[in-house]
Amino acid sequence: MSHVVRDPKGYYIMLGIPPTADLASIKRAYRARSKLLHPDRNPSPHASAEFHALNEAYRVLADPAARHAYDTGRTGHETTRPAPRPAPGADGAALTPRTCRVCGRATADLRYLVLHRVRGAGLRVRRQPITGVFCRAHGDRMAVAASLYCWALGWWALPWGPVATLAALWRNLGGGEAPPRENFELLAFQARAFLARGNLPMARTLTEQARPFARTDAERHHITQLLEVLADQPAKRARGRGFRFGSAQIAQLAPLLLIAAVALYIAGPSKVIGQLLSAVPETTTGAPPPPAPEPSRKEPVSGPFIGRTTPADPAPTPPPPPEAAPMEGLYVIGPDSVEVRRLPAPDAGVAGTLSRGTVVMVTEVSRDGAWSRVLSARGISGFVPSAALTTDDMLR
Ligand SMILES: [Zn+2]
Repeated sequence: MSHVVRDPKGYYIMLGIPPTADLASIKRAYRARSKLLHPDRNPSPHASAEFHALNEAYRVLADPAARHAYDTGRTGHETTRPAPRPAPGADGAALTPRTCRVCGRATADLRYLVLHRVRGAGLRVRRQPITGVFCRAHGDRMAVAASLYCWALGWWALPWGPVATLAALWRNLGGGEAPPRENFELLAFQARAFLARGNLPMARTLTEQARPFARTDAERHHITQLLEVLADQPAKRARGRGFRFGSAQIAQLAPLLLIAAVALYIAGPSKVIGQLLSAVPETTTGAPPPPAPEPSRKEPVSGPFIGRTTPADPAPTPPPPPEAAPMEGLYVIGPDSVEVRRLPAPDAGVAGTLSRGTVVMVTEVSRDGAWSRVLSARGISGFVPSAALTTDDMLR
């Protein structure tokens, strides 16, 4: 008698054809599927096992007597029996569901994950991803392990170690990457494997989970076929795999919180924020710089200042000794008019002119102290001779 399963071992599903298909369709479907699953062409780790299962399916369905026995359920293995016992024979072994690499369970939340590990080695960044099939719980744990590895070993390469480390940490934070192709193969295979074992609710759940990973028409078609067979099965909702912020995420961020806490403790909050702001890179000739805060002339200028040559000094002064170089901070233009150069050289292009009394912010000083990079409140940015700078007090 025909049970709910008309395709007890999923042979028709494997070939992607209806149970009414004729021999020509079976042969056509077999050729197409075997190209897809051939281990030489398909890098999926279970392609080989499934290729053998496909051959077994074809062997049965292409032989009219064997096919009739299969269709009428006379091959044994009724599907009323609960799942765990695999059907005897090569196909049963080939369609054994894949399991979590750590706990060995075939749960519905298995995914093929790529967890990023980077190790800095001088000038090179070594990427050592962990890949494999993990359940949700063990995927999360592997992500924590991979992130701690990055925290400890990732930074130590210049210039890309910190960049690669942050990227890896970011990807691991979401529980690792789940590449669509591998996950479609995995979940569709799991669905077929549970279908072949008669666990139809699980097959239905896995088909639903495979669906978002389908990218090609062939993959979407495969989902449609599975769902047609499993249409009367209620889809059991598996635990969601969406991003959630839980203990795994906290564990991955713990080193950051620790570093932040230590930095705040050592430097005090305002200093840390100041450092962060001053770390914004600047370009010499690029886009206009962000507007500088408009400082009031009356406002006492903060920061220590070093005495400079007097603004009245008309002769071009020789480069002052390095210890007399201005420090970063607010200064005032001394001479009546100073040309702002794009580069720290007297013949470099002129970016603008600043007149006596203009307040500028010095962001950088050349190594010999002769040139200072300044930014005016009106957005003029460039280099002026350090000798042209004075402090507020000296103009009073
Ligand atoms: Zn597990």
